[in-house]
Amino acid sequence: MGELTHRKNTRQVKVGDLTIGGSDELFIQSMCTTKTHDIEGTVTQIKRLEAAGCQIVRVAVPDEAAADALGAIKSQISIPLVADIHFDYRLALKAIEQGVDKIRINPGNIGRKDRVEKVVTACKAKGIPIRIGVNAGSLEKKFLQQYGYPTAEAMVASAVEHIKILEELEFYDIIVSLKASDVTLAIDAYTLAAQTFDYPLHLGITEAGTKFSGGMKSAAGLGALLSRGIGNTCRVSLSADPVEEIKVAKEVLKAFGLASNAATLISCPTCGRIEIDLIPIANEIEEYIEKIKAPIKVAVLGCAVNGPGEAREADIGIAGGNGKGMLFKKGKIIRTVPEEIMVDELKKEVDLLAAAYARG
Ligand code: SF4
Repeated sequence: MGELTHRKNTRQVKVGDLTIGGSDELFIQSMCTTKTHDIEGTVTQIKRLEAAGCQIVRVAVPDEAAADALGAIKSQISIPLVADIHFDYRLALKAIEQGVDKIRINPGNIGRKDRVEKVVTACKAKGIPIRIGVNAGSLEKKFLQQYGYPTAEAMVASAVEHIKILEELEFYDIIVSLKASDVTLAIDAYTLAAQTFDYPLHLGITEAGTKFSGGMKSAAGLGALLSRGIGNTCRVSLSADPVEEIKVAKEVLKAFGLASNAATLISCPTCGRIEIDLIPIANEIEEYIEKIKAPIKVAVLGCAVNGPGEAREADIGIAGGNGKGMLFKKGKIIRTVPEEIMVDELKKEVDLLAAAYARG
């Protein structure tokens, strides 16, 4: 583990203002659950996603009404918009015309070569990339027959075939995903893909499940890949409000030091030495730091004796006990305040650190 560094060694592909690939920066994506032709509903959801930290958003484009809505949606949001098209090249052309920042379509599914050419020419003209999305659940028959099962090799073979179609047309602004709901299969497929080509990879464990189980499954899969240096964008797929997807993705990225715009909570599990009612405080601080756009670590610990030492890496923290709260930075106590105001004092210190970070 850890030996691959595919993330930095990928080609760079522009999606709107963002440069995907070629660096350690990893972007969080989500997908709207609204009907795309419902412009107002879709824009409202995208704005909630943006506020939660979503950096790229995808919408389904199953029909003309959806394609026609894309321009209006795009004009009201500030993150890149991706159109998800299954095979209809006319919808792809319409989406491109409407000004989307990326399309997700598998060129091998478009059909006749002249149609693929039309889509590629339109993408080239507007500088729009194409994401090839291989999915274990909908792998082409010929690969299933050849490999007997949707294996990592079969998935990568499918991706390579789609890639070749685009490369033959001298189109290289490609991003690839190889999603599976089986975590081990997804890890193997992405790892093999990283060894096979240098296009940026969009990570995802598809149909992961509900908020809790799907979040855990996604964390396990994404974690394994991120630790190998694989992944340039990611999406957590949950049967839940998509804002929950962003929360999970952010936590996973934070765990690998890959989120530059989010604060992290450190809180103790509590034990027999506990001296304060810690759990509600930890929840309150977790909610408070959601709005902080700086990579600071905030600790909430249950006792004054062990607390500060246990959270030495925290940029700021409190440890409660004996009616008092100790505020500490990097393991060193900076002041002691009455317990009733320690949470407010911690919030003030968090704000000061965030402001200092913003000033650079
Ligand atoms: Fe127990 Fe104190 Fe450690 Fe919390 S900080 S787990 S209360 S020893």
